[in-house]
Amino acid sequence: MRDQLDTMLSSSSDAARPVDLDQPIGRVSRMDALQQQSMVAANRASARLRRKQVDAALRRLDEGDYGDCASCGDPIAPRRLAAHPEAPLCVACQGRRER
Ligand SMILES: [Zn+2]
Repeated sequence: MRDQLDTMLSSSSDAARPVDLDQPIGRVSRMDALQQQSMVAANRASARLRRKQVDAALRRLDEGDYGDCASCGDPIAPRRLAAHPEAPLCVACQGRRER
C-alpha cells in the first residue's frame, strides 16, 4: 500500500500543479483544467494522509501494538482492520474525532 501511494503521489505531481491562467486554452477548457486540478489536489491530500497512517501502522506493527486503538488502547475490530489496515483508531474514537 505504501508503494502504491508513493507511485500515485509521484505520478500525479504534474497534474496537481496550479493551472496557468494565461494559457490560451479557452474558458471552458480552463474551467475543466481548474476542476481537474483541484480534484487531483484533493486526492493527493488524502493519499498523503493515508501514507502517514500506513507508516504509523507499520511502526506499530514493529512495536507489537498494531491493532490497538491509538486513542483508547482497545483492540480495533478485525473487520475494520480488514477494510482499513492503516486505521489508527477504533470506530468509537474515529467517530468521536469526526464529530
Ligand atoms: Zn478507541
